[in-house]
Amino acid sequence: MPATSNSTRPIADLKLAVDDVGGPEIFRSFQGEGPMQGRVRTFIRLSGCNLHCRWCDTPYTWNWQGTNYRHVDSEKFAPAKEMTKLGLAEALDRIVALNAPGVVITGGEPLMQPRQVLALTQAIKGTRADISVEIETNGTLAPHPDLIEAVDLFMVSPKLRHSGNDPEVLSLGIENFREVKNAQFKFVAKRQTDVITVSQATRGIDSRRVWIMPEGRNARALNNSLRKITRATLRRGFNLTDRQHIRLFGDKRST
Ligand code: SF4
Repeated sequence: MPATSNSTRPIADLKLAVDDVGGPEIFRSFQGEGPMQGRVRTFIRLSGCNLHCRWCDTPYTWNWQGTNYRHVDSEKFAPAKEMTKLGLAEALDRIVALNAPGVVITGGEPLMQPRQVLALTQAIKGTRADISVEIETNGTLAPHPDLIEAVDLFMVSPKLRHSGNDPEVLSLGIENFREVKNAQFKFVAKRQTDVITVSQATRGIDSRRVWIMPEGRNARALNNSLRKITRATLRRGFNLTDRQHIRLFGDKRST
């Protein structure tokens, strides 16, 4: 059952990824991708994902030991070590203490914890109405209307076939958010044909809502993808985003 702001059921603790020292992964950094690139944000990374992208840069949120999901890194992770729980009040305290003008709720897939995410969003807005709340999602889980009303921006990243997921996750991610006015789309692309696929899949959506982002977990791979996708992106009037945090900090946790 979806979350509602009026529900009297207690809100379960948030399930978070852990940082390098074993604490909940809540940190302050620059947003590295999409329309907010370069802006200071507090990130809260939730654990668990319903997709299994083979190039995912946060496999420690889902690629558990005992599963047969395929990933470019062969490493598997233990949920007991990589997942931690945090009550809403403590999560809010930590977010407010970091004092950024915006919060990014990311993952993993945040909408796997819909009641907690709604409650956290409403708590942030109730405490500091001036803080922008942005949610990064793969789009496969439709957002509750209360959440649509509460957040400032959904950054929806439907996955193309090269992610290794079922082909239908691309259209599912687009259709769940097509009519959500505060949603923009970000597609990971490796080659020109990926941009063409995006162009076909987003027919009817204003190109100003669409961002193309190079696949890559290091500067060399990003440059390689950019070389192949830039002209096709420009031709179709889509926005182009880099992955600034990878260039600044490398592929590291809490950046
Ligand atoms: S949807 Fe995002 S978090 Fe989930 S596997 Fe894909 S890239 Fe990783």
